[in-house]
Parts: sequence; structure tokens; C-alpha cells
Amino acid sequence: MILTLSTTATPATDLGYLLHKHPDRVHTFELSFGLARVFYPEASAERCTAALMLEVDPIALVRGRGVSETQYVNDRPYAASSFLSVAISRVFGSALGGRCKDRPELAATAIPLEIEIAALPCRGGERFLRQLFEPLGYEVDVRALPLDETFPDWGPSAYFDVKLTATVRLADALTHLYVLVPVLDQEKHYWLGPEEVEKLLRHGEGWLAAHPAREAIAQRYLRFRPLIASALARLVPEEESPTEDPESRDGAEEKIEAPFGLHEQRLARVAEVLRQSGARRVLDLGCGEGKLLRRLLADRQFEEIVGLDAGSRSLEIAAERLNLDRMPPGQRGRIRLLHGALTYRDRRLAGYDAAALVEVIEHLDPPRLAAFERVVFEFARPGWVVVTTPNAEYNALFPSLPAGRFRHADHRFEWSRAEFASWAERVAGRFGYRVELSPLGPEDPEHGALSQMAVFERVATHEPAGGVEPTSAAAR
Ligand code: SAH
Repeated sequence: MILTLSTTATPATDLGYLLHKHPDRVHTFELSFGLARVFYPEASAERCTAALMLEVDPIALVRGRGVSETQYVNDRPYAASSFLSVAISRVFGSALGGRCKDRPELAATAIPLEIEIAALPCRGGERFLRQLFEPLGYEVDVRALPLDETFPDWGPSAYFDVKLTATVRLADALTHLYVLVPVLDQEKHYWLGPEEVEKLLRHGEGWLAAHPAREAIAQRYLRFRPLIASALARLVPEEESPTEDPESRDGAEEKIEAPFGLHEQRLARVAEVLRQSGARRVLDLGCGEGKLLRRLLADRQFEEIVGLDAGSRSLEIAAERLNLDRMPPGQRGRIRLLHGALTYRDRRLAGYDAAALVEVIEHLDPPRLAAFERVVFEFARPGWVVVTTPNAEYNALFPSLPAGRFRHADHRFEWSRAEFASWAERVAGRFGYRVELSPLGPEDPEHGALSQMAVFERVATHEPAGGVEPTSAAAR
């Protein structure tokens, strides 16, 4: 397995500083799955190429795992795979992290780079390969390898020789390879421990959330559920709730609504609806800083309370405000906080009596709503679902809110009464629920109430006959 990195930056041999590997020597590293070597086939001031060669030992891979002889025969020694990621992080760790003590300014600079990967296995073919790298600014050159050189009519194999060209920071290029090469790999990454997952996600930060193929990338990680499912969810909030700062998230909204003390009214009303449903095991989805959770805890009817949010900072604040650390064991056993995204199927949410989503849906990008609907109404499928959202018509009455603006910077939409009703009725019909809509908070004769609520009650055990068509890759 071989990867080469070439640059024409001047002097090109500075690549040696960037990679922390001197061009004059062969550098050898012993990794758990074999040997990695770094050497420079070419090192002049005009052009310098560093090669990373891996000799994967197929026997070492399966040793002690009680597998059959046939598993010794595989593509691991030859194909670029997830092992390449591991090697990049072990051998080029500083470069991957953008650290370079001798040439810090160079590490921060985009340089002309040519990356060649031999025999890259590619589930999804050339098209997918391009979808992964082109949005990141690479020119992609691909040569499909024949299944057998001697018998060209056997057709192409699933392996490609790939050349990527771009002007990028070396650290970014290594990061892209580190994350995306395993996405293309067909094999089960049985070497993938929780720490590797952590690293993978950390390296995706900043660019993966904005990547147009992130759904597909995410899905491929999800093959390793449950290990990755929860970790993956942590990537998603980046795009969904850019305002990690709780002050800015809750603050602006509360300022606009403050004169009405609406939020507390809204929460009291939701808690009441949940109580009347008879629910004992409840979910607060998008629980934020845990204001509803606190109310639910105060009511003994609720035996199991789960709060889920995509914002880790919000969850920390919720844990603090609820005093989770100092709670007596009986009380502590009733509540759990989960980190997760509502646009990804999450088995932890199945089997509850009721779920509340208080002022959450308007934070979702409209194209993700279909995935969200399936996650909540098809997969989690609680007996009751209470959804509240602003009534956009009422905005006309806020003196401080310019026309056409939303109540909060992170809102992706705000619906009129008719829009919310038509959404709620469509969802109810599709997933086998009955729905009732009601105004929430102070009401204006013309513009309606400040906020609005839909209470869904499940009427069918399974979704209606004919099934639900998959609507989004994210929910599958
Ligand atoms: N329900 C709380 C918080 C409302 S603010 C309350 O009424 O006080 C909206 C919350 O939804 C935020 O905490 C935000 O982090 C969360 N959120 C937004 N998108 C999400 C998603 N896709 N998955 C889970 N939570 C999400």
C-alpha cells in the first residue's frame, strides 16, 4: 500500500520539515498491523515527493482472533484502507495536527500538493470518490484498475489509482485522507476502538459538517453501530446549532418573549399535557438546559425521564442546574441525559410513552425535517408526541423584531398557524397518529397566539399499511 505526497512549493524540500521526516533517510515505524516506511523518491528544490509505504502483515491481523486460514487471504496488504489512516496518524501525527516547529508559517500555508494513492478500494465507485474529494477543492484523476491485467475482458475491479491535486495546507490534506479513506473501504474496521472513533470525528470537525456528501459519509460510519452512532451524533450539532453558546441561543429568544413569561407558561402547559397522557417514561428531545426536565422531575408520575440534545454545552448546563451530581440515588435513577441528533435514528429513544419537543423543530434545516420525522414518529415511536413552535404570524406584534426576521438567529424557519397545521396533519396521517392543535400563550384576535402546540397520539401500533417510503439517507 503506497501513498505519495508531492509538492512544488519552493524550496520543495521543506516538505521534509512539514512531515518531520528528513528527505535523506528511510524512516521505519512498527505498527500493530505491520511496518510503515517513509522515504523520498524525489527531493529537489523544485519538486519533492514523500512516500508512505505500508507493509500490512495479514497474519498479524488475524492472529489470536480464532479465524480460519482463508481469512489470511485478503486485500489488506495491497489496498489503501483504514490502515492508511492509522499510519497517517502514527507516522505523520504532527503534520496531521498542523504542528511544525521549524516552519510554523509553512504549516499554516496552502501549498501546491499532489497526492497519489495506489489501489484505493472504492465502494460506490468513481462517482462517490469524486463526491468526496471535489467539494473539498481537489482535482480528481482516477484510473480504474482491471480485475486482472491478463484478462481485460473480465472488466474493472473495485480498486482505483487516484491522484488528487490541490493547493491546500498539508494538515488539511492529511486530515481529509485520514477521514475519507476509511469511508471508501469495504472491510469491517475491526481495529476501530473508541479512541479511533474519537479521533476520526475530531478530524472531521470544521469541514465534514459542511460537506455535501456528509450524509453518505455519516451513513458509512454508521455501519459500525453502536460504537459510532453516538459519536457521530456529535458531529452533527456543528451544522445544526452553530450557536453553542447557551446565552446567545436562549437569550435572544427569551428577550423577545420576556414580557410574556411565555417560556415558563409553555413548559408548564407541556408538562401538564404529558401528565394527562398518563405517561410514565418520557423523552425531552432537544432538552436544552433542562428547564422542562426540572418540572418533570418534580412530578412523581414520571418514573423515567430522558433528556436528549445535540449541544454538549447545553447538556453540561442542564446537568449542573439539575444538580445531577448531588442528587439522591432514588431521584438520580429517574433521569438520564443523552447526547444525540434528532436527524439520525437512535435506538436509545425507542419504547417511551411520550416525547416532548419544545421549540426545537424550527432549529432544524428544512431538508432535514423528513429525517427528523422518521426518527421520532417511525423509529422512536412514542405513544404521545408534544411539539411546540413559534407562530410566525404573531411576530408582527413584537416591536423589536423587524418584519421578515425570526425570533432567534438559529431558527431555520418559523411557521404560520396554517403551515404548522398542514405539517402536523401530514405527519399524523403518514405515521399513524391522531393530532390536535392548540394555541399557546397570549392570543391576539388577528395574529393568533404567540406560540403553537401539536399533541400527537399514536393510533396505529405500526405505521400505516404500505409502509413509509424512505425519505432521507440520514434516517435509514
Ligand atoms: N426545549 C428546550 C430548548 C429549546 S432550544 C427549551 O424549551 O428550553 C432548541 C434546542 O434544540 C437546543 O438546545 C438545540 O441544541 C437543540 N437541537 C437543535 N437541533 C437539534 C438536533 N438536530 N438534535 C438534537 N437537538 C437539537
